[in-house]
Amino acid sequence: MDEIEMMPEPNGTWIMVCPCGQAECRGRGVKAWRKFTVTILPDQRYRVCCTACGRCLEHRLIYGITRSTK
Ligand SMILES: [Zn+2]
Repeated sequence: MDEIEMMPEPNGTWIMVCPCGQAECRGRGVKAWRKFTVTILPDQRYRVCCTACGRCLEHRLIYGITRSTK
């Protein structure tokens, strides 16, 4: 894993994990991340930056999330 990953949990929480070891779990109803910066971009995209190492990743907003199963 060399990119920031954001994973939805079935109970409505989100987990963001950075390869540098930074990780944060955001509960339902919590609007802001503390360890990551999320910037909304045009064309339904957004950028996530890790505050610890500065790594950034652009995502496209996806409605209807597909999850890979291992
Ligand atoms: Zn990081």
